[in-house]
Amino acid sequence: MSADRPPLRLPEPVAWLLAQLAAAGHAAYVVGGCVRDSLLGRTPGDWDVCTSALPDETRAVFAGHKLILTGLKHGTVTVVLQGRPYEITTFRVEGGYTDHRHPDAVRFVPRVEDDLARRDFTVNAMAWSPDTGLVDCFGGRADLAAGVIRCVGRPDARFAEDALRILRAVRFAAQLDLAVDPDTAAAAERLRDTVQNVSAERIFAELDRLLQSPAAGRVLAQYGGILAGAIPEIAPCIGCGQQGRWHCFDVWQHTAAAVGAVGQENAPGALRTLRWTMLLHDMAKPLCRTVGPDGAAHFPGHNQRGARLADSILRRLKAPNALRQEVASLVAVHDGPLPPDDPAALRLLARRGEGWLAKLCAVKRADLDAHAQNEAVAARRAEVDAFEARMHALARTGCYTLARLKVGGGDALAAGIRPGPAVGDALHALLEAVMDGRLPNDREVLLAALRTQAEAD
Ligand code: ATP
Ligand code: MG
Repeated sequence: MSADRPPLRLPEPVAWLLAQLAAAGHAAYVVGGCVRDSLLGRTPGDWDVCTSALPDETRAVFAGHKLILTGLKHGTVTVVLQGRPYEITTFRVEGGYTDHRHPDAVRFVPRVEDDLARRDFTVNAMAWSPDTGLVDCFGGRADLAAGVIRCVGRPDARFAEDALRILRAVRFAAQLDLAVDPDTAAAAERLRDTVQNVSAERIFAELDRLLQSPAAGRVLAQYGGILAGAIPEIAPCIGCGQQGRWHCFDVWQHTAAAVGAVGQENAPGALRTLRWTMLLHDMAKPLCRTVGPDGAAHFPGHNQRGARLADSILRRLKAPNALRQEVASLVAVHDGPLPPDDPAALRLLARRGEGWLAKLCAVKRADLDAHAQNEAVAARRAEVDAFEARMHALARTGCYTLARLKVGGGDALAAGIRPGPAVGDALHALLEAVMDGRLPNDREVLLAALRTQAEAD
């Protein structure tokens, strides 16, 4: 195959779909993300097909197969093969965008080139078929090789049509580790406030994908001015000075570095919580900034205020409740002291659980990794590591739940504790004593303590 005909490896059902459409006399290509990902050597998530066939013609070609027709209005017929849906969309162009988001109308067109012209970025505007090879009218392949996200056409016009593209630009940059072309980035920043026309759910989904991407930290550092369109609270963090003994970055650059310091190897759920936590952990700093007599910036109360701000931002973005609550709880204590001793650690284990405490340690490490690197910071990091090791040991063997206490309700009744709430009270009192180290978690000792308690009542 020649250089402009890269051999895409189509899954067998996709090759079959293209062949069926071609046999019926229609032009048909795989298009968009699957072409981009194939050229990058990545496995595409889904394979989209575009065709010159009108929706009714597509239906006729695949009559007898399971079809989903919910996208018909936009020209999409979904064919289900071996239980998997494949979208086949008629070449189309879009009418005006009065709401900065949804096209007012779509029009079907006969040429693939016109369909590619409506797509957002050059790297997403390529089509491929076994017959023609790559159709790349806008230099998508060169941009992919150069590592650039660039709008198809004039960036201002494309972002004015659909403000979601502003977030998609930075999300793809983070996901694929690309730069945003300077003209595209400048237009995105100029038009950033139009992102507020996008639904909260879509804004959240784009930010969520961006944050969980490998290049999230770099993209935040580079494109904070664009992201402030999605979360306006970012704007005052940019340039908010805090450099001194602890910090070498302003609040936003520190935030970006802290997001990047959360390792991609975390399990997906933890990665999500940790990246959102680092994004939001210092967002209240501009609201709390004071300058001390030494000329250094201080941020009294930024933990608690940050937790409230994180909660309200995630509410506004309609984030899942569990994520919102966990992030806010971590922001609230991200900069606070660690439990000083075993009793305090056991109480926190009882209240929050091992998983939450492990996340808190990861938050503290990511935060410190984004500080000035000096002995004081290294010492704090070593404290976090030591605490985490001790915390995991306590979680394995320590007694911080009633289930681990060596006596139970039956023992309490046998010892003469009155049936009813007194049983729970007695067991909780023993658990407190064990966590404090006043009593060992030893069955004989605890039975004796229950008898003493029963006599006293
Ligand atoms: P992924 O699914 O991995 O996020 P993708 O490129 O497949 O990446 P989709 O959102 O599935 O992205 O969209 C499929 C294609 O449709 C894109 O590649 C692009 O060509 C086009 N597209 C999607 N959203 C827009 C948009 N808002 N404006 C213009 N074109 C778009
Ligand atoms: Mg896709």
